[in-house]
Amino acid sequence: MATLGNPQETIAVLNKYKFVFQKKFGQNFLIDTHVLDKIIRAADITSDDFVLEIGPGIGTMTQYLCENAREVAAVEIDNALIPVLKDTLSAYNNVEVIHNDILKVDINQLVQEKNHGKPIKVVANLPYYITTPIIMGLFESHVPIESITIMVQKEVADRMKTGPGSKEYGALSLAVQYYAKPEIVANVPPNCFMPRPNVGSAVIRLIRHEVPPVQAEDEKLMFRIIRAAFNQRRKTLVNGLKNGLNLPLSKEDIEGAIGELSKPLNIRGEALTLKEFAALSNFIKKRL
Ligand code: SAM
Repeated sequence: MATLGNPQETIAVLNKYKFVFQKKFGQNFLIDTHVLDKIIRAADITSDDFVLEIGPGIGTMTQYLCENAREVAAVEIDNALIPVLKDTLSAYNNVEVIHNDILKVDINQLVQEKNHGKPIKVVANLPYYITTPIIMGLFESHVPIESITIMVQKEVADRMKTGPGSKEYGALSLAVQYYAKPEIVANVPPNCFMPRPNVGSAVIRLIRHEVPPVQAEDEKLMFRIIRAAFNQRRKTLVNGLKNGLNLPLSKEDIEGAIGELSKPLNIRGEALTLKEFAALSNFIKKRL
C-alpha cells in the first residue's frame, strides 16, 4: 500500500531526513492522492508495463507506480533524496532508483535492458526548468516510447496542444504534435504541492504516433524551418527563413516555395499548420 500522498506523511519524511528544498532542481512535491490517482489512470499503467519516472522526489508517485507496473526505473538528480527513496520504496522489489541527471541517461540503453527495446511509458512530475529539453530529447533521440504522462506548467501544456491563430502556438506545439497526440487530463492548482509553485500546473498525456501525421521528406530540415519561422515571430515567413535558415537559398527560392504552398508572400510562420510546414520543407528541399 502506498503510504505517501498527503501533507502529514510528506512532512514526516522531510523532517526525518532534515530535507532542504533545492530551488535549482524545481522541487515541488505532490501531496494530493486524487491527483496521483488521476495520473496513474491517465497513464494507463498495467502489470505488463515498464515505467520510467523522471524526478521521483521522496517517492510519492513512485509508490503508486510500483503498485501498478511490472517494473519502474526512477531517475533522480538530488543526492539528498537517494537515502530517502531507499527508505520510502523499501517495500517494493520492482523499482530501481538511478542517481543521475535525466539529460545524461542513455534511455535507449535502459529500454533495451529493462523492456527488450519495446516501447515504454514515461511518467513524471517534471522539474519545470527543463521540461522542454526533456520532452524534445525523448522524442528526437527516437527512444521507443508508447506514451508520456507528465505534470507541467499549465502554460506549457497549453502551448503543446494549441494550433495556428493562438499566441501560444510555436515550435514546441509543432514538435509535440508531430511526434504525439497531446491531451490535457487534469488541471492542478498550486495547493496540491509542497512547497506551492507560483504557477498553475496541468497533467498532459502525449501518445506517440506510430506514423507521423504528415510526410516530411527531411524531418531535420522541417524543424530547422519551424525554428527559423518562430525565432523571428514578428517578421514575415520569407524574412524569417532568409535570415534564420543559413542555407544556400535566395529570397526568390523561398518565395517560390511559399508560392507553391499557395500562400501570400507576406504570410507569417505562425499562420501555418504542421501539414503546411511539412509541405513547405518538401518544396524547399527541391531547391537545395
Ligand atoms: N515526483 C515527485 C513528486 O511528484 O512529488 C517530485 C517532483 S519535483 C517537481 C521534480 C523532481 O525532479 C525533484 O525531485 C528534483 O530533484 C528532480 N530533478 C530535477 N532535475 C532533474 C534532472 N535533471 N534529472 C533527474 N531528476 C531531476
